[in-house]
Amino acid sequence: MRTLILGGGPAGAAAAIALGRAGAAPLLVERAAQPAEKVCGEFLGADAAALLAGLGLDLAALGAVPIRRAIFGAGRHRGAFTLPFAAWSLPRATLDSALLQRAAAAGAELRCGAAAVAAEPIPAGWRLRLSDGAVLDGARLVLATGKHEMRGLARPAPPGALGLKLALDGVQLDDCIALLAFGGGYAGLQPRAGGGANLCLALAPGASGLAQAARDPAALLEMVRQGSALAATLLRAARPAWMRPMAVAGVPYGYIHGAGGPAGLFRVGDQASVVPSLCGDGIAMALASGQRAGLAILAGGSEAAHHAAWARAVRPGMRLAGLADRLIATAPAALVLAVAGLPGLAGWAARHTRMGLA
Ligand SMILES: Cc1cc2nc3c(=O)[nH]c(=O)nc-3n(C[C@H](O)[C@H](O)[C@H](O)COP(=O)(O)OP(=O)(O)OC[C@H]3O[C@@H](n4cnc5c(N)ncnc54)[C@H](O)[C@@H]3O)c2cc1C
Repeated sequence: MRTLILGGGPAGAAAAIALGRAGAAPLLVERAAQPAEKVCGEFLGADAAALLAGLGLDLAALGAVPIRRAIFGAGRHRGAFTLPFAAWSLPRATLDSALLQRAAAAGAELRCGAAAVAAEPIPAGWRLRLSDGAVLDGARLVLATGKHEMRGLARPAPPGALGLKLALDGVQLDDCIALLAFGGGYAGLQPRAGGGANLCLALAPGASGLAQAARDPAALLEMVRQGSALAATLLRAARPAWMRPMAVAGVPYGYIHGAGGPAGLFRVGDQASVVPSLCGDGIAMALASGQRAGLAILAGGSEAAHHAAWARAVRPGMRLAGLADRLIATAPAALVLAVAGLPGLAGWAARHTRMGLA
């Protein structure tokens, strides 16, 4: 019986391509009829670029914007370093759409526009019930629903951060990504393919001003501007391109799935691990874990072995990412001064938090 894949983001698509290329023709279910905007900074590092090339995608041909430098701001301090690898920015709708096209070309069947409302084990494997009434059976289930939990299969993670995204006009960044600290969290600002910039924020639960920032683009911009001289400069002429920020609640940064779980259920992407956003490596990890799950299924491996191997591979990079995340939350000026004084160390940390190739 075929493998079912639930979720058509990078993790689900990568699993579908791996299985499809080997002739195993999986069935992928995605609730969105068309790939759309997602709460994501859209930074792609060297590992993401290499994985995407292996899946047959050419970032330059898709219109991605090259990123060469990173600049950090907290209070009156700023620091910058040249990234030790080529990086890119590409809209998620473009990326996710290109990946799903590759999955279909590889032989996967795509069922887009209907959500799974239930996923349950059956004697022969797994059963999905869809919002349009369809019932689908498979020998295994690859769970690739990203930040969204399937009822009964939620990740055992503590309450997490609030993620926000706002597209901006009037911001000039060239080939630079900026990390901007402010009271309650940090923001990533990077050029948007097609013009303008993406402002993406990770806010600690309960941070002051959070409720208003989540509804009001002007309040959100002001909150970030107040955090650093760098943000005030970069966002001086910024104009929100959307009426409201996009939001996703409860992002469990630092989560790594252990080896436990029901038989035949392979977690991938954000369902397997969630790296702090400041690393910009979630897409690469989603691609890598999806691909690994596909290959494990083809080799007859168990979900427990897949989860354990993934946890082993990403744990060192996740520790380093967690340390940077804690530093920016508790001592942002120290982090920025370290970047300014030791750019080589910042480059080393950027390289060692590329977990897609771990
Ligand atoms: C604030 C913020 C900024 C970030 N910035 C970056 C960045 O710059 N670079 C980077 O690499 N990573 C970044 N990330 C992380 C990145 O967005 C995720 O790690 C990545 O999207 C995970 O991919 P995925 O395939 O697991 O999930 P997703 O991309 O979320 O895909 C899951 C898919 O499953 C579908 N789905 C969910 N439930 C159902 C259902 N019941 N039925 C059918 N379909 C369903 C959804 O519609 C979705 O298409 C950021 C995250 C946050 C919160």
